[in-house]
Amino acid sequence: MHVNTPLIPALPPFTLPGQQAWLKMDALQPVGSFKLRGVGRLCAAQVAAGARAIVCASGGNAGYTAAWAARRLGVKAHIVVPQTTSAQVREAIAALGAQVHVHGSVWDEAHAHAVQLAEDLGAAYVHPFDDPLLWDGHATLIDEVVAAGVSFDCVVLAVGGGGLLAGVIEGLRRNGLAHVPVIAAETEGAASLHESLLAGERITLPAITSIASSLGAKRVAQQAFELCLNAPVQSVTVTDAQAVDACLAFADVHRVLVEPACGAALAVPMVLPEVLAEFKAPLIEVCGGVGVSLDRLSAWKTMPR
Ligand SMILES: *Cc1c(COP(=O)(O)O)cnc(C)c1O
Repeated sequence: MHVNTPLIPALPPFTLPGQQAWLKMDALQPVGSFKLRGVGRLCAAQVAAGARAIVCASGGNAGYTAAWAARRLGVKAHIVVPQTTSAQVREAIAALGAQVHVHGSVWDEAHAHAVQLAEDLGAAYVHPFDDPLLWDGHATLIDEVVAAGVSFDCVVLAVGGGGLLAGVIEGLRRNGLAHVPVIAAETEGAASLHESLLAGERITLPAITSIASSLGAKRVAQQAFELCLNAPVQSVTVTDAQAVDACLAFADVHRVLVEPACGAALAVPMVLPEVLAEFKAPLIEVCGGVGVSLDRLSAWKTMPR
């Protein structure tokens, strides 16, 4: 269901002197984010196995994508969103023909409700970040870069629940690139992976305080955490303001709108150049996101920092 997205050379400030960074433009997927790779794969597999309805808990790109995929596959979608999800997002999901259920104040509560709902309805539950088939789908982004013949010496990506990270590492491994380092970026206030690595165990954040809502998993997937202990992953954090500045610069320089979640990865060359100094050809996953508009970008521009 996903498309093979463009792979383009980055312009400054997303590439540093002495290197040529590459942008994998997953913001251009039909759903606006990389999510279609894994969520699409998972939904298709469930329908092939006989599912007539799909349930997903997400007030963000995963929910939007599950609704999109279900429509494509001709099955019913039930998307459970927490109360914090804006009316605009609820409408966008409903416009795809999905039934929107509002439950709980945070994702974890929506998730628990969705698992029960799937059981009651006899529907398939699609997890937004914790499923091996989902990672297998996300891994296609690395397959595409390798097939394009572009060589890269590190991957820069954003981390929420860790599904993208697990998928990219799977993609590197299956292409003989397990040695390639991954720079995993989170915003402060949504840094569940970073805090877990500091603590030496998988922790649960007390709350999410970042505006990068697509990174707002209070606890990362176990697999993502373990991969970081066994693969060359460097965890970094940026502030919300730095992520937003990266979104604004990206809109100006590359003329594409992305969420602050994606801005976290784009901010790395801008604010942490030392992290990328040793590389000649970083690959930046432009993960995208539908939670952005001209109005929201200009509101972020004037937010206090
Ligand atoms: C889902 C998402 C992320 C985080 O992905 P995880 O698999 O949860 O780590 C980052 N950016 C965007 C735009 C997303 O939709």
